[in-house]
Amino acid sequence: MSDYDLSRRVLDQVREAADIVAVVGEHLTLRKTGRNYVGLCPFHGEKTPSFNVSREKGTYYCFGCKRGGDVIDFVMELERVPFAEAVERLAERFGIRLPPASPEARRRKDEHDQLVEVMDAAQAVFVRQVGEDRPRAFLERRGVSLELAADFGLGYAKGEWRALYDELRRRFSERALIAAGVVVEGEAGRVWDRFRDRVTIPIRLARGRLVAFGGRVLGDETPKYLNSPESSLFSKSHVLFALDRASRTFAQAGRAIVVEGYFDCIAMHHNGFAETVATLGTALSEHHARELARRVPKVVVCFDGDAAGRQAAVGAVRTLLGAAVEVDVLLLPQGQDPDDIVRHEGSEAFRGRVDGALAVTDFLLESMGPTREERRRNLLQTLEIVNACPDPVRRFSMREALARGAGVPLEQLGQIGSPTVVAQQATVQALPDKGELALLRALLHDIEPTRRSDVLARVPGDAVLHPATREVLRVLRKLTENGALIELAAVVAEVEDPNVRRIVAGLEHEAPATSEDRLEVVIALLMRRRDEARRADILDKMRRAESAGDKETLERLKAEQTELIKRLGPPSPGVPEAK
Ligand SMILES: [Zn+2]
Repeated sequence: MSDYDLSRRVLDQVREAADIVAVVGEHLTLRKTGRNYVGLCPFHGEKTPSFNVSREKGTYYCFGCKRGGDVIDFVMELERVPFAEAVERLAERFGIRLPPASPEARRRKDEHDQLVEVMDAAQAVFVRQVGEDRPRAFLERRGVSLELAADFGLGYAKGEWRALYDELRRRFSERALIAAGVVVEGEAGRVWDRFRDRVTIPIRLARGRLVAFGGRVLGDETPKYLNSPESSLFSKSHVLFALDRASRTFAQAGRAIVVEGYFDCIAMHHNGFAETVATLGTALSEHHARELARRVPKVVVCFDGDAAGRQAAVGAVRTLLGAAVEVDVLLLPQGQDPDDIVRHEGSEAFRGRVDGALAVTDFLLESMGPTREERRRNLLQTLEIVNACPDPVRRFSMREALARGAGVPLEQLGQIGSPTVVAQQATVQALPDKGELALLRALLHDIEPTRRSDVLARVPGDAVLHPATREVLRVLRKLTENGALIELAAVVAEVEDPNVRRIVAGLEHEAPATSEDRLEVVIALLMRRRDEARRADILDKMRRAESAGDKETLERLKAEQTELIKRLGPPSPGVPEAK
């Protein structure tokens, strides 16, 4: 949130003024090739440059890790700052005066700032108390030294009902303490500290902002862990513990490790696995998976080898495959957590385990059962898991490996559990087909801006299938309706979904230029594909109307069919691909 008005008009001004080549050039050496610049990608380790910058379009794109966007995205990703701060930095650097925010926006920001201040104040109190006898003895038993505790900002919440409340109430309103989740409000307006006699673990966003606490009991009471409630600052399914620290090491490690508990995660960091993160007592969510996939090409899932851990690992594998990230799985001996093992074996032996983690297909084969009979029985179910993977090539090779492992001949595999629904949901990550890419390229790059709305008017919304293409066309229509020209910068500014942004930013690099002739062919193909699908649909409905004896509907459908045949000619055997 910002003190400034960051409306579209202002953002356009900043994007206009901020030279992306200059901004990127501060962080890496760029070489000019043709109209673009290339250099070594700052987001993934590489030896040959695949990071492209276009000054004309104001965008960057990496062929290696597929990251891309405009100058604001670049500053956000590289300098790890939130959107508003990235804009403010750019404005300052390029001499743009940002107008102040509206009173309403300022009020929201004040409230937000206050919650953040409450969290920081509570953290200061907890940290001050961690050296007391009870928490210190607990941490010692868990092998956590006071240095390590300080490094992770571990603290202690006293056992009294209102210790924190009394201390913070001098500075903050009761309402703010409740909103931040450090104080609980019960019946009749009674209030008390949420965390009592617990070791507190600060939970931070990727960029370091403190948004919640985890609280661990010192003895055997329940619940063992207590988290801050969901608030305007904190959502459990969005936050990974230690991501703020781990993400700094992802590039070097080439992977992230996911474990199940705070203390496992802390032990991993302490023993040289700084690329480790933990979920907050929940299953790995799609948000978590996306947060990881944005930052690192591979994730090692490191869970307990008991039945529950194995099941959680299968779920995590499915979610991670859906986010198009590579997955390895390391199941630990039953009932042992990484903390125990690292301490007993030492970190070198544990490194061997992590490096030797099972590739995803080997893990899935193993969990299908030891005999071919069992594997065959579980094949269908397991194929469904790999169907979450949006990359068709990878999906195919995984399906093949699983079928082979189950002793099912590939020909027989045929349509068994073939990806339909699942793959469609996941296609946002994969690129649109060539025809749709060519259309997008034409609309955003290759034809004159003044003619773009005319081309757009010729392509109905249902002529394209990929969700990203649909979203871009929707944005273009909105721009046209508002009387604006269709321009790349305006589109980038309007699109919010990161996958769609990525596809837009990568267009120029993923697809060749679309000539006028080719554009005509592409539009014709897209229209034909749509009409063929509609015809199949009409035939289907006619059959149903016929067997239901619904003459009226049948007549109407026949008329529609005649209309279509006039346009299309006689039926062809299949629906053509928009090549
Ligand atoms: Zn890259």
